[in-house]
Amino acid sequence: MTDRLTTSAGAPVPDNQNTQTAGSRGPVLLQDYQLIEKLAHQNRERIPERVVHAKGWGAHGVLKITGDISKYTKAKVLQPGAETPMLARFSTVAGEMGAADAERDVRGFALKFYTPDGNWDLVGNNTPVFFVRDPYKFPDFIHTQKRHPKTNMRSPTAMWDFWSLSPESLHQVTILMSDRGIPVDPTRMNGYGSHTFSLWNDAGERYWVKFHFKTEQGHKHYTNEEADQVIGKTRESYQEALFGKIDRGEFPRWKVQIQIMPELDAEKTSYNPFDLTKVWPHGEYPPIDIGVMELNRNPENYFAEIENAAFSPSNIVPGIGYSPDKMLQARVFSYADAHRHRLGTHYETIPVNQPKCPVAHYHRDGQMNVYGGIKTGHPDAYYEPNSFNGPVEDKSAEEPPLKISGDAARYNHRDGNDDYGQVTALFNLFDDGQKNRLFANIAAAMSGIPEEIAERQLVHFERVHPAYAAGVRTARATLTGREPAISVTPATPQQAAE
Ligand code: NDP
Repeated sequence: MTDRLTTSAGAPVPDNQNTQTAGSRGPVLLQDYQLIEKLAHQNRERIPERVVHAKGWGAHGVLKITGDISKYTKAKVLQPGAETPMLARFSTVAGEMGAADAERDVRGFALKFYTPDGNWDLVGNNTPVFFVRDPYKFPDFIHTQKRHPKTNMRSPTAMWDFWSLSPESLHQVTILMSDRGIPVDPTRMNGYGSHTFSLWNDAGERYWVKFHFKTEQGHKHYTNEEADQVIGKTRESYQEALFGKIDRGEFPRWKVQIQIMPELDAEKTSYNPFDLTKVWPHGEYPPIDIGVMELNRNPENYFAEIENAAFSPSNIVPGIGYSPDKMLQARVFSYADAHRHRLGTHYETIPVNQPKCPVAHYHRDGQMNVYGGIKTGHPDAYYEPNSFNGPVEDKSAEEPPLKISGDAARYNHRDGNDDYGQVTALFNLFDDGQKNRLFANIAAAMSGIPEEIAERQLVHFERVHPAYAAGVRTARATLTGREPAISVTPATPQQAAE
C-alpha cells in the first residue's frame, strides 16, 4: 500500500493539489498552513554554497590497509588488515555550484574515514602542492579565482597579477596548466594529502608523513579543445562518470602510499618539508604502499550526503597529527569554521558527518543539535569536572610534544625558499608534447592580460628553464599572430616578487 502523505509534523495531508480559497477563484486563505509550509521550505532549500570547492561529486567506499606501518603509528585506521568505511568528495576550486565539471582547475580530493577512534578527514587535492605557503595570502589568492567585484566576471588579469607577484605559486601553476589540469573524471586522477602531517606510535615517536592516492584507472586528461566540446554537451560530466561507474559496479580504486620522514630530518632537508609549495622528492623519501581505497556506493541523496558533508583537516585521530605547515594550521581553523557557518554549530550531528564510534562531549545548545541534548550519558553531567560519572579525558590520546625551536615573530616566507628548482624537475619530466600543450594552455589563459604582467610572469618561467619562457612566448605569438617578443633580462626573484 502507498504510504500516507503527512505534514512534517506527521499529520495526514488531506489535499496536496488544491489551495484553500474563499470561492473557487480565490483569494487564498492564510489558514492553509501547508501551502505556507511548502513555500517556506522551497525558499530554504539551499544552504550557503562553499566559498571554494562549491561544485562537487562524491561517493562512499572503504579504505583497506594491506601494508604494515605499525612501527610509525598507533592509528587504528592504519593498522594491517584494517577496513574502514569512508566518504569521498571531489570538487573544483573556483567554480560555483552550477559550474561545468570539465574546467581547468585544481580538484579537491576530500576524504572522511569513519575510524573506531573518531573521524579522520584528509582534505587534499589532485596535486601535491598549492599556490601559496603562507595563510595570509590564502584569502587574497581565492579572490583572484572568483569573480571581479565590478564586472562579476572571472579575471585572468587578477590571476596572473597575483601569480606573477607570488613566485611560490609557480609549481602549482605549472601543474594546473599541464595535461593534469583537466582530468576527464574524478576516477582518472591522483589524490594527495598535500600537507605534511605526522604519524606517532605507542612509544611517543613522531614521523612526518605525506599521503598519496594513485589512481588505478590510469591518468586521463582532456586538452582545452576536448574539454570545450565536453562542456558544450554536458556540464555534469564528472557527476555522470562517477555516479555511472559506481552504478554499473565499476568501482574506482586508488593505491594508497605514504612517504615517511624521520622527525629530525626536517632540520636537514634543503627545502622546508612543511612548505605546501614543495614535494618531497621520491628519490629521497620513497613512496611506501600501504593499501587501497575503493569507492563502491553512490549516495542515496546528494544533498544529505554530499552537500552536507563537512570535511576538515582538524579531524585527526590518535596516531595521526598535524605538522608546522602554516597553511595546514590555518585550514585546521578555517575549514571547521566554514562548516559552522554553512551547516550550523553542531554540523557533526548530521548523519553523514556523524562518527561511527561513541561520541561523548559537553558542547551545549546551538544550531543543529539533533542529538537531543549533550552527549555525556548523565543528566547532571553537563560540565566538567563533575561528580556524576560524565566522560573524562583519555591521556593515551595525547600526541608527543612537537620539537619546535625559535622566537615568535613574522618570518619572511620567501627567505631561503627556492621557488624554481622543483618546478624545473617537473618541467624536465614532460616530453615535447606535454611541454607544447603546457605552453599553449598558458598562452590561452594569459589572453588579454596587460603585457607588463605577462612579462613579469615570463621572468619566472625563464628562471625555471629558458625553454619554458621561450615556449610560452612562441605560443602567445602564435595565438595573437605576432612575432615572439624579445626576451628581457630576468629580474631577480626578489624584484619579480615586488
Ligand atoms: P619522480 O620522477 O620520482 O616523481 C615524479 C612524479 O611526478 C610522479 O609521482 C608522477 O606521478 C608525477 N607527474 C608526472 N607528470 C606530472 C604532471 N604533469 N603533473 C604533476 N605530476 C606529474 O620525481 P620527484 O619525486 O623528484 O619529483 C619531481 C617533480 O615531480 C616534483 O618537483 C613535482 O613537481 C612532481 N611530483 C612529485 C611528487 C612527489 O611526491 N615527489 C608527486 C607528484 C608530482 P604518477 O606517479 O602519478 O605518474
